Amino acid sequence: RAKKDGPGNSRFFERELDERVRARHKLEQDMRVGLRESQFELYYQPQLNLADNEIAGFEALLRWNHPERGVISPVEFVGLAEDTGFIVQLGEWALREACQEAASWPKNVRVAVNLSVAQFRSGHVRQSVIQALGASSLSPSRLELEITESVLMQEGTEVADALGRLQDLGIGISLDDFGTGFSSLGYLTRIRFDKIKIDKHFISELRDEPNSALAVLRSVVALSKSLGITTVAEGIETKEQLERVRAEGCDEAQGFYVGRPVTAREVATLLSRQRPRRQRQSRAS
Ligand code: C2E
Ligand code: MG
Ligand code: MG
Ligand code: MG
Repeated sequence: RAKKDGPGNSRFFERELDERVRARHKLEQDMRVGLRESQFELYYQPQLNLADNEIAGFEALLRWNHPERGVISPVEFVGLAEDTGFIVQLGEWALREACQEAASWPKNVRVAVNLSVAQFRSGHVRQSVIQALGASSLSPSRLELEITESVLMQEGTEVADALGRLQDLGIGISLDDFGTGFSSLGYLTRIRFDKIKIDKHFISELRDEPNSALAVLRSVVALSKSLGITTVAEGIETKEQLERVRAEGCDEAQGFYVGRPVTAREVATLLSRQRPRRQRQSRAS
């Protein structure tokens, strides 16, 4: 029986699949070339300290300046980079780059870098971190590593141990996107996180009482306080949301309303505006 090419026909689907595989393969090759040719760039998004209204640090976020496609968001390539293992190299680059950049900031401003589960599997996260700190002379206390719950779900106690050893170096560990995965309070007993980042999903759902997102926010803040963990509200897009999370006792806020992710050059401008006061208050070395 002759097969016609078109929707509903198996050959059509095979071709679709073929094209998708090819596109992924092309993207993967492009990423390798892109890293060699300096097409990747880190943008930095401010995290506001709600107690003194000053920038406490910046989260480093990957951007890919693709020669044909323009700027590509990490949402489009981080997953593939994780599947192929390329994230290990890319993540090491991001770590070195972020530490290098942060070393030029005032000494009480931190940098946060996202880590993937594949980087833990590679077995040399600790070595990469030590190298990035060494090369930049950044104090470990100014580096935070963000991990999502998926990292903890996929791996066992090795990850908890690895995180503990990183903390022993003086680095902070943040639990990213809290509340989006299969949040298990068990993680909080196995790993002493320095920070919990409350996912933007809860922030966008905040309304007047009674409201379940608000109830969740309150319990996370209360729990974090009793465990001595700093809370960060993510995805703050309005003044109302900022005032709400401040009133609820969150320690820090991050989001478009506080500041969009910007280039390294723009970070310098942002920081120069608050530098005089910061230097007087600075305690860190
Ligand atoms: P994330 O770590 O949770 O980073 C926060 C994301 O939320 C960023 O998206 C940021 O631009 C976005 N965002 C910030 N404020 C707001 C807001 O007010 N509203 C909304 N709707 N979104 C906001 P981005 O830069 O596209 O990054 C997406 C994800 O890609 C990150 O989520 C992180 O999981 C991953 N990623 C980015 N850079 C890296 C990296 O260097 N390594 C690894 N492994 N993953 C990375
Ligand atoms: Mg993050
Ligand atoms: Mg997040
Ligand atoms: Mg995320």
